[in-house]
Amino acid sequence: MHLFTGQNILDFSKAFPDDDACLAYLADLKWRDGFVCKKCGHTSGCKKAGHKYHCYKCNHVETAKAGTLFHRVRFGIRKAFLIIFEMTTSTLILAMPFFCCPT
Ligand SMILES: [Zn+2]
Repeated sequence: MHLFTGQNILDFSKAFPDDDACLAYLADLKWRDGFVCKKCGHTSGCKKAGHKYHCYKCNHVETAKAGTLFHRVRFGIRKAFLIIFEMTTSTLILAMPFFCCPT
């Protein structure tokens, strides 16, 4: 698993060209230590199309987004990734505590 460390929009666009690339990245992060079923705790399953996992014990199919920050996002996951990227790389956000929280 390669963690994204890009610092500009060109790096972001190259790493995450579409929703599928974002889901693949999220799935790699979520199951980097192996699959654990959210319903029954079983650790044996198989990957399904669309970056999902199928539990062999209870037949639960879990998406990469389930149980993550992106679970109930109503717009595209790439847009959500971009919002977080902008929040974590923006110098305006980093400078905000100096403007809004006088000590
Ligand atoms: Zn299960």
